[in-house]
Amino acid sequence: MALKTSTASKNHVFFKRAQLGPKENEEGVITKGDKTRQNFADENDNHVETLASSEVENHVESEEEEVPYRVEIAWRSTIILSVIHFMGIWGLINLLVGKIYLKSFAIQWVIGQMGALGTTGGAHRYWAHRSYRATRPLQIFLAFCQTISVQNSIYEWVRDHRVHHKFTETNADPHNAKRGFFFAHMGWLMVRKHPDVIRKGATVDMSDLENDPVVSFQRRHYLPLITIIAFILPTVIVAWSGETWLNSWLLTMFRYILALHLTWLVNSAAHLYGMRPYDKGISPRECWYVSMFALGEANLMMLIILITPKHNYHHVYPQDYRTSEFGIYHTNLTALFIDMCAYFGWVYGRKTVPKRIVEARVLRTGDGSEYRHH
Ligand SMILES: [Zn+2]
Ligand SMILES: [Zn+2]
Repeated sequence: MALKTSTASKNHVFFKRAQLGPKENEEGVITKGDKTRQNFADENDNHVETLASSEVENHVESEEEEVPYRVEIAWRSTIILSVIHFMGIWGLINLLVGKIYLKSFAIQWVIGQMGALGTTGGAHRYWAHRSYRATRPLQIFLAFCQTISVQNSIYEWVRDHRVHHKFTETNADPHNAKRGFFFAHMGWLMVRKHPDVIRKGATVDMSDLENDPVVSFQRRHYLPLITIIAFILPTVIVAWSGETWLNSWLLTMFRYILALHLTWLVNSAAHLYGMRPYDKGISPRECWYVSMFALGEANLMMLIILITPKHNYHHVYPQDYRTSEFGIYHTNLTALFIDMCAYFGWVYGRKTVPKRIVEARVLRTGDGSEYRHH
C-alpha cells in the first residue's frame, strides 16, 4: 500500500476498544487492574490518539496547497547542540584515555537509564500513547526521570510525537525521514519547523495533557527543573564520589549526548532501514540494532532502555504498551518495568493487541519478512 492521500485523514482514527472486544484485550495481560481496564478503555476512547490496526492507511493528511518553505537555521539550538557535543566528546576522550574513574561513568550510566525510562515509559508509552494507566506517585517518578533526559518538556515531547504518528513522513512530521538521515536524526532540531508541522500540529488533541497537573507543573518550571535535576545534581553526585568537577561535568554532557543519539536513532535508522513485517506501506522498520542499542528499546552499554525496537509494529499498533506483541524483556526493559509496577499495583489498564489480529494484519499488509525475530 502506498501512502495515499485522502480526505479520510481528516477524521484520524481513535483506538476503539469495541473493535477488539474486551475479552480479546485480556490476552497477554496479567495481574491487577483488570477490573478497571474496561472503564479505562471507555474513558480513553475519546482522547487517546492512536492509529487503529485496520485503519492506519487513513492517517495521512489530505492534499492541500503547498506551503512555501525555505530552510532556515535555528541558531540558538544549533549552537547549544554544538557546545554540548563538544563537551560530551571531550568527556568521552577523557574517559577513553583513563582520566575518568569507571565508577564515575557507572553513576552517570544509572542516571542515563533513569532518563531513558522517563522517555520510553513516561513521555512515550504513558503520556503520548496512553498505553497504560499509572498512579500519581509513579507519574511523578516518570516525570522526574523524563526531566533527566532533557528532550523538551513532556508536553512538547508528546505534541511532537503525536504529530509524528499522525503525519508520518510528510512535511508535517517534525522529523520527516524523507528529508534524509541527518534531518530525521538531529537536523530537525537545528532548523526552523516546516509550516505544516505547526499548522497541522495544531489539529492534534493535547487536551488530556493540558489538564494533567504533573505535566503542567513540569512545563511551567522546566528550565529550573532541568538545571537542577539533569545537570547540577548528577555532576555534584559524581564529584562527591571523588571525581574532579571538570570531569564530572564533562561526563554529564557525555551521558546526555549519548542518550540523545540513541533516542534519535529511532527517528532516523528505524524509519530508513529494516524490515516491515506488519505494514509494508509505511516507512517505520523493524530494526534490531536500534532496539539493541536504544534501550527497550536498546542500549549499547545497556544505556538504552528506551527506544522502539519494533518500530514498524509500533506505528501500526501505537496503543500497545509493550510496543512489541511478544513482550520479551531482553530488548524491552521498559515493558519489564511497567509489568513490575503493575505487580505492585502502581500500573493498571495496560493495553495490548490480540495475537490473531496482529497475525491477520501481517498476512494482509506485511512485506512477507519473518517477523518472529528477537
Ligand atoms: Zn516513528
Ligand atoms: Zn510512538
